Amino acid sequence: MLQQLLDDLRGYFESKSSLTETEQALLNWLKEDIFPLLTLQSDDLAQKGFDVRRITAEQMRRLARRITENYCQSETSVGENFWEKLEEMAEVLRLPRYPRCPACDHHRTIFDQHRGVLRCEVCDQTWHEDLYVLVEFPDDASYFEENDIGYPSFDSKDNGARYVPEYDYIRHFHKDPAEIAYYKPLRWPESQSYLFPDEPNDAVDALCEPVSDEKGTADFGEQAVWVPLCNIKKPMI
Ligand SMILES: [Zn+2]
Repeated sequence: MLQQLLDDLRGYFESKSSLTETEQALLNWLKEDIFPLLTLQSDDLAQKGFDVRRITAEQMRRLARRITENYCQSETSVGENFWEKLEEMAEVLRLPRYPRCPACDHHRTIFDQHRGVLRCEVCDQTWHEDLYVLVEFPDDASYFEENDIGYPSFDSKDNGARYVPEYDYIRHFHKDPAEIAYYKPLRWPESQSYLFPDEPNDAVDALCEPVSDEKGTADFGEQAVWVPLCNIKKPMI
């Protein structure tokens, strides 16, 4: 890919009728016999379970430099164990990883862009980063309360009910949540049409719960609301 880019750049400058001094210098450089051996793309890193959304271009540059130096110093042939080296070096640089799979605990999580979910390549478990599950009777939410995970619900008939991240739900209960148990915290101003609907609908409104606890208000702001996923019209998740 990089070779193609260099060839295309050279072709582009050669086709121009006149070149600036800088362009001429670049063309001279491109005419030298340079053949790149290895390129590093963020997709490579994503395949090894690193959260490339939180990795900067500068961190990628540093990683590429490390890998190149390592190849030059050792007698490892290129490609022989590229993937192991990539993972090892990225860990040395403490690049952020996706969380381990909540179902099987493997470190092979990737972000499925098409579906907008995280997915484990080992057991195929998927989960959303921004969805919560309302844990209430017959499920027992006391584990989450004791570990300060999630936020309390005051509307539920179950006194200990709690909204917890889907990830923690799967990790604790070893099962997928029921479809109707999914909730999303909507912030102001998106929350307004649920808190003060133009056309009140008792059945739907009863399922929405204003965020009123201290931690929830601190995290989601004033006038946020828990809305069942099935009642969110837009934006789509
Ligand atoms: Zn898994």
